[in-house]
Amino acid sequence: MGAYALIGAQWGDEGKGKVVDYLASKAQWVARYAGGNNAGHTVMNHGGTFSLHLVPSGIFQPDVSCVIGNGVVVNPEVLLEEIKGLSERGVDVSRIYLSERAHLIMPYHIQIDALEEEARGRASLGTTGTGVGPAYVDKASRTGIRAGDLLYLEDELLPRLKRVVEDKSRILTKLYGQPPLSLQEILDQCARWREGLKDLLRPTSFLMQQAIERGDTIIMEGAQGTLLDLDHGTYPYVTSSSASVGGAAAGLGIHPRSISGVIGVFKAYCTRVGSGPFPTEMLDEQADELRERAWEYGTTTGRARRIGWFDAVAARYSQHINGFSSLVLTRLDVLDGFPSVKICVGYELDGELLGYFPSGATQLQRCKPVYEEMPGWSDPTEGATRMEQLPAEAAAYVGRLEELIGCEFHLISTGPHRDETIMLKPMI
Ligand code: GDP
Repeated sequence: MGAYALIGAQWGDEGKGKVVDYLASKAQWVARYAGGNNAGHTVMNHGGTFSLHLVPSGIFQPDVSCVIGNGVVVNPEVLLEEIKGLSERGVDVSRIYLSERAHLIMPYHIQIDALEEEARGRASLGTTGTGVGPAYVDKASRTGIRAGDLLYLEDELLPRLKRVVEDKSRILTKLYGQPPLSLQEILDQCARWREGLKDLLRPTSFLMQQAIERGDTIIMEGAQGTLLDLDHGTYPYVTSSSASVGGAAAGLGIHPRSISGVIGVFKAYCTRVGSGPFPTEMLDEQADELRERAWEYGTTTGRARRIGWFDAVAARYSQHINGFSSLVLTRLDVLDGFPSVKICVGYELDGELLGYFPSGATQLQRCKPVYEEMPGWSDPTEGATRMEQLPAEAAAYVGRLEELIGCEFHLISTGPHRDETIMLKPMI
């Protein structure tokens, strides 16, 4: 019982979807707290392979209710499409609840996202073009449209939307030479969304509170990763929301004292999508081999992910931001067969050893990784379900990561399928 935050501890794509799917049988609730459909989780289970962008990864467990919290920004088209697709594949979608406070990604957010990114040219941030950033901008500038507003289209939404559409049209026509928006078209779209979403809308913070009082178990499902967090990530190459533990409480309306555990999910190496500093990036053919072998391409964008060795400096920083109580290591199998594996244990900046993760992107860009090299393993870890099945070198690698991060792995994932998992200690 209790609420457990499950956080991406690196730059996202750590394999959180698989871990949530695996743990969800022990929970009554899985709740997404941040991001939008810029995130993508892949879940492989007995029902097949599923790509989820908004629906929480607990949806495959028959007794789990799934919440899309107030901290998420929702593209109603994408959500409705995703629910329809799951339902067509026989997944029970009757237990999805959407916070009335969740902000909506409107068509103009997607348009502006693309235009802004194009205007940045070579200084692009590598956004996914899904409108997530502009929707969070409107949330902060108090011009956002929330899911609950759809229920009060004529009296509340219409006058606000009219002002917003005028403002956005000014930006589109004057700055980008685009045609103005049609208020009527957007209103018609909202009316359609209302029909699709009205049965999902709930005061989800209240639901969560009741669940906690009943003694239910809640998994707070993170999207992206700590190093992409708006405050704590490699700004400005970050996402527009709080991907770390602080965002979990705020994005669901659960108070921090009810969080019983914080689970950090690490990949056995690092990846990063889009621009931004990445000290341990590998630029040789080993990276290409690993990318192909592990199919490191984005779930949402299909973009090739950048590949790097495990960065223990960044990992310690992530531990410090989130206070993990237990860790998960995924994709250990991907390192099978490498003659040696490297771990970055320090950064060198201007001839000095840096003992911390610097806040400036330029500074981080200039950091040179200091590596510790360990022997690789030729016997496979792939599909292992018990620690004893791991080659000694792989076990030593896991042990060294624990030492460097300062927290224990409770679960090790050795393949994409639910049962390719070593459960070491209970986490929830
Ligand atoms: P998320 O956004 O953190 O859920 O991560 P993604 O879904 O983008 O990427 C994780 C990918 O890794 C998915 O395709 C998973 O099926 C796969 N995956 C998860 N755990 C493992 C693992 O231990 N080994 C391998 N080979 N693949 C894994």
